[in-house]
Amino acid sequence: MRFIGRIEHFGSLIYDTERKEYIPIDQDGTNIILNVSSNVDLETLYYKYFSHRFSYLNFKSFLQLIQSIEMIDKDYNSNVVFLENSDLEFFLNNKFISAPLKVHIALTYECHLKCRHCFSNSGKKSEEEKNSELSPEKIMEFLDEIKENGVFYVSFGGGEPFLKKEFIEILKKANQNKMNISISTSLSSINAKQIIETMQKENIKIQEFKISVEAVNSKEYTNVRGKNLFENLKNNLQLIINYKKENDTFIRFSFVLNKQNYSFLPNFLSFAEQYSADGLVFYPIYNVGRAQEHPESFLTNQELEKIQRMINNMKERTKIEIEFFNIPLKFGKNGLYNNFGCGCGKTTIYLDPYGNILPSGMFIKYGSKFSLGNIKEKKFKEIWKENVEKELNKIEADPKCNNCMYFEECKGGCMFRSFDKYQKLSYKDPTCTINPL
Ligand code: SF4
Ligand code: SF4
Repeated sequence: MRFIGRIEHFGSLIYDTERKEYIPIDQDGTNIILNVSSNVDLETLYYKYFSHRFSYLNFKSFLQLIQSIEMIDKDYNSNVVFLENSDLEFFLNNKFISAPLKVHIALTYECHLKCRHCFSNSGKKSEEEKNSELSPEKIMEFLDEIKENGVFYVSFGGGEPFLKKEFIEILKKANQNKMNISISTSLSSINAKQIIETMQKENIKIQEFKISVEAVNSKEYTNVRGKNLFENLKNNLQLIINYKKENDTFIRFSFVLNKQNYSFLPNFLSFAEQYSADGLVFYPIYNVGRAQEHPESFLTNQELEKIQRMINNMKERTKIEIEFFNIPLKFGKNGLYNNFGCGCGKTTIYLDPYGNILPSGMFIKYGSKFSLGNIKEKKFKEIWKENVEKELNKIEADPKCNNCMYFEECKGGCMFRSFDKYQKLSYKDPTCTINPL
């Protein structure tokens, strides 16, 4: 079947294995998909279940719409298989989705670089350290497990994921599972050329390359990343552009902004245009990992506001999609959860190379305090069910946020930033200047 569905508290979430995207459907739409078939008379179905909810015209329009995307065929037979879920009642009662949408998988903390801003403290690792990371078999088993639970978005990062020896096998498994794959890479490792060529040769489909660029001229790049690597990056970018010609892939450049580099924002955009990137994402530097040794790089709220204004100007003169991880955040806007805080631990999670599941990669700063469980010890399904009851998902909204006009989309912002600054998850994001403390 082309479509795989999960029943959820708001209706259902249906994954299209061809277009590799989720389609959220409300309660009424879900009931129609569950009941329609070539054996059922449409008028009878409408008057039995839906006539008190909406008009016959709307009913027919919805059927035409889902026919046009082939969710049902021309004879009204459904192309959706809904996953069984023995814990469905539990998730419906708690108004919590039955599995996240996306898992960020840090395959390794091995990296050929040693960037100052690195949140995961990645770098050269000893054989012993690498051996303590999850085996490729365990990672592939995990990919099957999340698929069975209806999770189809995965992003592979690290460290440098290209340095995980079995990276190609892992990608093949995710391809077999028809997952939407994103790869976060610096694209500057010694084997990058070989990996991209193998992907092309073996017809491995990647939906997104997120390339951490960080600097756009040789001198600055050497400063941030090391000697002779800028040329590598530029050559490999060309390979990715070639890959894109045969594959429907999205190229996103990412930059971590700090006090020293944010004035170069327009140069970052020019570089992205030069290499035909589709998207740009900017993250403010976080007080995590190696960045903790460089407090002189941290941005003030005034600087964040200035950056936001610069980005708004850039958006007006480019077709490139630009994102900035700043307040108000847009994560709550999708309507998939009602709780306070960002989507970390609610719609997305992070798997570290040792098997720990965390709400996001930033929480590695606090060791096991925020671990939701380890996949070497428990099934993913069990970890996710227990997560519903965790402190992170039981927070009362900050009164300032409750009255804020952006609350529906922002929900109080980044919980990591609140905890890191105030040791409380329940405070609003400290970078918020819309409603300051
Ligand atoms: S920031 Fe990325 S490229 Fe730099 S050391 Fe960390 S993992 Fe490697
Ligand atoms: S007050 Fe709260 S909800 Fe409003 S923008 Fe600030 S952090 Fe977001």
